[in-house]
Amino acid sequence: MILNNNVIQTNNLSKTFGNIEALNFLNLTVPKHSITGFLGPNGAGKSTTIKLLLGLLKPTSGTGEVFGLDIQKQSTEIRRRVGYLSQDPHFYPEMTARDVLRFTAKFFYTGPEKAIEERIEEMLTMVGLSEKADRKVNGFSGGERQRLGIAQAQINYPDLLILDEPAASLDPMGRQDVLNIMRNLQEKTTIFYSTHILDDVQRVSDRVVILNQGQLIAQGPIEELLSAGRDIVYVITLEGDTLKIRDKIIELPWVSNLAEEPLNNAIQWRIAVSDPDKAKRDLLPILVNCQGITVLNFGRQERELEEVFMRLVGGGNNGN
Ligand code: ADP
Repeated sequence: MILNNNVIQTNNLSKTFGNIEALNFLNLTVPKHSITGFLGPNGAGKSTTIKLLLGLLKPTSGTGEVFGLDIQKQSTEIRRRVGYLSQDPHFYPEMTARDVLRFTAKFFYTGPEKAIEERIEEMLTMVGLSEKADRKVNGFSGGERQRLGIAQAQINYPDLLILDEPAASLDPMGRQDVLNIMRNLQEKTTIFYSTHILDDVQRVSDRVVILNQGQLIAQGPIEELLSAGRDIVYVITLEGDTLKIRDKIIELPWVSNLAEEPLNNAIQWRIAVSDPDKAKRDLLPILVNCQGITVLNFGRQERELEEVFMRLVGGGNNGN
């Protein structure tokens, strides 16, 4: 049994197909109420992992638990508590959105009709499809179908929502809608989703898992991954007499470097810091309290997940 706060935990989970090692000794942890982006190039082993977690494949070796339940012995119980959206959800084209949800809801409930209808209404509102509830699904856009798929996956209030490439086929507006829905669902459930859109991961996830060729190559909070192995850099634009304060800043024990260059009539500093917490707390107050200078701009240089991903996965793969 899982005694900690993890919804998913695997222990050396492995799967081979003939001589293809699809997944090697995966030790995955997904904490409760996280939104975890599951990344990796084609063939990395993402679908295999999802199928193993849902009991749709048997591991070659290793074990795994979802909600503390064994993925091999208790998969029926696990599936009852998981909402799953496949990459390309299929709906009966003649059904309306409301029909689709009613059909699914009746799998889970034998309760009063009124309660079922209320649940359906709640799901339609959640994904912004109330107005289109009684239209046939075959006229729906990609984004609308995906939103309906999320409503369907969420209808039994699952403790874990697994989404396979939920935004891959969508235009920017559709993607934004789906990301917003995911964000809103975070307080209700845990979301584990596979994707190759790194930008989305950076916007909506708090944790990242990266697989490559069946191997886990990174896992943890996105902030940690982005700052690993490298100092955080503050970029600051200042006006006034910066000489004295510059010397004071360079001497601070948590400042590892200060690079200066002119910027129009002002000065831009790039300050690398070795202790992010101290920098976050102290750097701006020091500057603001310094007489004779004005802070025009102050910010942290954001690192892109794409850069980290390419470094970890290597140039040979294109990340799809
Ligand atoms: P991803 O979802 O990250 O694209 P997959 O989990 O689908 O990766 O695939 C991982 C590896 O396992 C790939 O080399 C793939 O060809 C292989 N594989 C997946 N399913 C099967 C199967 N049923 N039979 C044989 N090989 C498979």
